[in-house]
Amino acid sequence: MKIDRRSFLSLGVGAGAGIALSPLPWKLTDDSSIWTQMWPWTPVPRDGAVNYVNTASTICSGGCGLSVRKIDDRAVKVEGLKGYPGSNGNACIHCMAGIQMLYSPNAVKSPMKRTGKRGEGKWQPISWDEAISETAKKLGELRESGKASTLACILNSDYGTIPALFKQFLNAFGSPNFMRTPSYQDAYEMTLALMHQTDSMAVFDAENADFVLSFGSGIIDGWGSSVRMFKANSSWKEKNVKLVQIEPRLSNTAAKSDQWLPVNPGTELILALGIAHVIITESLYNKDFVEKYAEGFEDWTDNEGNKQKGFKNFVLEGYSPSYAARVTGIEANTIVKLAKDFAGASAPLALCGRGQGTTPGSIHEFMAVHALNALVGNINKKGGIWAMPKPDYIKWEQAKLDDTAREGLKVPRADGAGTEKFPHAKYLLTRLPEVINSAKESPIQALFVSGANPAYTLPDTKAVAKAFASIPFIVSFTSHMDETAEMADIILPNHGHFERYEDIPAPPGYNKPVVGLARPVISPQHNTRHVGDTLIAIAGKLGGTIAESFPWKSYEECLEKTMGENWTSIQESGVITNPDYEAPGWDTAFETSSKKFAFIPGNHNPGNNSLQIPVIEGNDNYRLTLIPYDSMRLAAGPVGNTPFVTKTVSEKVLKGNDICIEINPKTAEKYGLKQGQYAILTTPKGKAKVKTELSPGIMPDIIAMPRGLGHTGIDEYLAGKGININELIGPVEDPASGLDAAWGIKADLVKA
Ligand code: SF4
Repeated sequence: MKIDRRSFLSLGVGAGAGIALSPLPWKLTDDSSIWTQMWPWTPVPRDGAVNYVNTASTICSGGCGLSVRKIDDRAVKVEGLKGYPGSNGNACIHCMAGIQMLYSPNAVKSPMKRTGKRGEGKWQPISWDEAISETAKKLGELRESGKASTLACILNSDYGTIPALFKQFLNAFGSPNFMRTPSYQDAYEMTLALMHQTDSMAVFDAENADFVLSFGSGIIDGWGSSVRMFKANSSWKEKNVKLVQIEPRLSNTAAKSDQWLPVNPGTELILALGIAHVIITESLYNKDFVEKYAEGFEDWTDNEGNKQKGFKNFVLEGYSPSYAARVTGIEANTIVKLAKDFAGASAPLALCGRGQGTTPGSIHEFMAVHALNALVGNINKKGGIWAMPKPDYIKWEQAKLDDTAREGLKVPRADGAGTEKFPHAKYLLTRLPEVINSAKESPIQALFVSGANPAYTLPDTKAVAKAFASIPFIVSFTSHMDETAEMADIILPNHGHFERYEDIPAPPGYNKPVVGLARPVISPQHNTRHVGDTLIAIAGKLGGTIAESFPWKSYEECLEKTMGENWTSIQESGVITNPDYEAPGWDTAFETSSKKFAFIPGNHNPGNNSLQIPVIEGNDNYRLTLIPYDSMRLAAGPVGNTPFVTKTVSEKVLKGNDICIEINPKTAEKYGLKQGQYAILTTPKGKAKVKTELSPGIMPDIIAMPRGLGHTGIDEYLAGKGININELIGPVEDPASGLDAAWGIKADLVKA
């Protein structure tokens, strides 16, 4: 058998990614768990009638279609649902093992009220009536004291009826502070708002691309809608589509790519502009698009008569391949060849958003990568990036406002999004802890958290904990005792993921409109309530215009009325989609005043200044740079790993309870470190004891730590395993957008 580079890598590092979609790991881990661990809630089904329920997943934003095998009312097996848009018969290890989460003894079993100090873990079960009355009483007091605007809600999405209910609640209450947890979607949405002037989502016709240039996007490490990207990657292999992966570490995606280009981290923006330089110099750009459908390419004179430099001269004067080579560490001739290959393909697609895309990154980096797609005219075209309208099926009457609400809504957002300083930002949650910590009195006096775990997922967990400690009233709607719930005053537990209805619109990056339906697979196991019902009940208790803004008796009624004539069909098929959707053509796609794509949006012209590489925290006393990395085997979002999935994590990542830090053998030798040695990792944010894992797959002087470990909550099988990288890394505010642009942090590593 001939082993070329691709198959060699497939047999080696990348093999783990391939099996993630197969039921094999589930079977293996199931068996080994049953026989070796005897976890008390290992699913051992009783005899009974076998039946299947089709649903969509709420475990992550991927929203894959699932078929759940049941014996009587017990779910026993999860498989991908054939024909479901995007995932089509596939599921990843997290949903397959999700049954363990459903039957976890650590689920929150009833409403709880904190009795000890915050984080002390002392709780008292209370009735739903008490819990709702107490929550409504606290909120009522807030309104009476003229502080309606100090209620905030943190969710992990702003699409669908659940986020819409929270927004409705905030509006009726009188607060502008709805916040979505950060991700690459923030940066992509802002990029489209600036360059297209549309309020839209970036989606990708990945399956039809014929050359993929990924600026660190973890295509098979959980980026976008993970299962769909796995499938897209497989189809690229069948069709010989070239994938070039640009990142400083040999991730699974890099290992399975056709070409891995190790880049000095943080310099991807310069690389994108270096590639643009070649495309422009060699006249390889799409003239039809650039000349007829774009503005800001050539220099122009603005309305005040000032000369403005266009994208072409901006790039040609500042970003030659030799300059880009010096900055990025990628040779100039490699940049030239890459640019020619990219521009020479018929459907080349450039992507960005590092790893799983859980941090936004520099807005100029996203704009530079998007400009590459524009140069080759692959916007809103087959195989390209599309700006797709956001889901618009929720057409409720606006919240009814009383005087208190009207006054509260005039107050600027606490996180600064949408203000004069950050006019294009919608949510800037990573700014909130610092805003709270530097204020005399917290601008947030009450906080609702649903479907998110900011105490774990936001960078600089110490600052987040300090900020949350100064919020007088926190309500968590979680069904598991996560790190944010540990800081709450009241927990109003939502039904588990297979126990409730929920609409799931817009899987990230999927280029067809989709609204999936999660439906109850089993009866609720505990004294929980649907979060929608809980919110409706709190609104009812508050009364007045707040109650009037919720004209439904239950969440199910709300969902049914929202879906209208589609309710029957979504119940039958589990999904509403339009497989024939195509993005609008170039003549109607852009909402700028000229109706053209803006290479340089008016208020974002860097003029004669060169663009800065996004800085990271730390000074030269730190000899190394720490970067986070993502793995499909580690859930790094609001939901933590189940015990079975944690058992599949390699000992090169987690050895016992010790987290392993990847370090290049040359760097290790330079600093007197050996394989498997304990070392102390120090960053400007903190210190941790780690183990060294020597790997030639990481660039010298860079060290890498996985995301998704170091929980203190969820359950005893996950808590205490490894370190949460967010304890060691803080946000870095992008001055152009306000988004978190941190891609790493300066660090040091010495023998323990
Ligand atoms: S990508 Fe998300 S929704 Fe899809 S199978 Fe995996 S965990 Fe479930």
